[in-house]
Amino acid sequence: MPARQSPKPATKSASPVRKPKGPKPRSAAEIRALFERFRAHNPEPKGELESVNPYTLLVAVVLSAQATDAGVNKATRPLFAVAETPQKMVALGEDVVRDYVKSIGLFRTKAKNVILLSQQLIAEHGGEVPASRDALEKLPGVGRKTANVVLNMAFGQITHAVDTHVFRVANRLRIAPGKNPLEVERGLEKAVPDEFGHHAHHWLILHGRYTCKAVKPVCGNCVVADLCDSADKRVA
Ligand code: SF4
Repeated sequence: MPARQSPKPATKSASPVRKPKGPKPRSAAEIRALFERFRAHNPEPKGELESVNPYTLLVAVVLSAQATDAGVNKATRPLFAVAETPQKMVALGEDVVRDYVKSIGLFRTKAKNVILLSQQLIAEHGGEVPASRDALEKLPGVGRKTANVVLNMAFGQITHAVDTHVFRVANRLRIAPGKNPLEVERGLEKAVPDEFGHHAHHWLILHGRYTCKAVKPVCGNCVVADLCDSADKRVA
């Protein structure tokens, strides 16, 4: 009878090769330096969507999905001149609203949502825009990004709406690297010091829209060029 072999000692498997998790976020000091630079160049950044009260801001943001701010403003100027409250918008009716916004992409769905959300504001919120994410996201046509914009601009809350520009800039500058908008938003919540929180959204949008463009970033005109180590940086 063959001698029983003692069981082999359990060997630790070789430590797995760790895949890099993506670009390393910047240090707190580096992020502060970036926002100090943005603030020095534009102390009071403003959104470019026109509105006259929280309600018209909400409607403008709903209309702005996949459309330019300039295109939305062109349509909303005459619309808000006659309907700057949910009551007046509902009285106008979906057909008329559709006519006002027909130059904007997806105008049929958007006009429908504007009427539905106005009705819901009247029925559930006394005609006022609620200052809560949950309530905003229950309104037709309102998603996380729209809620973030409204909470930030109408109610002064520190929120980070991540659109295509914010997504690109937050990744390029390694402020909040992420694979999707929610990851970037969570990263910004952690990374942006409170004192810059209210304006961060606009600084990043404006930077992405006019300077750190998707295809040809205008690095020669960039206020943070010396702090940027992006592979997309174009050296003159
Ligand atoms: S240097 Fe170029 S890539 Fe870097 S942040 Fe500025 S515009 Fe964007």
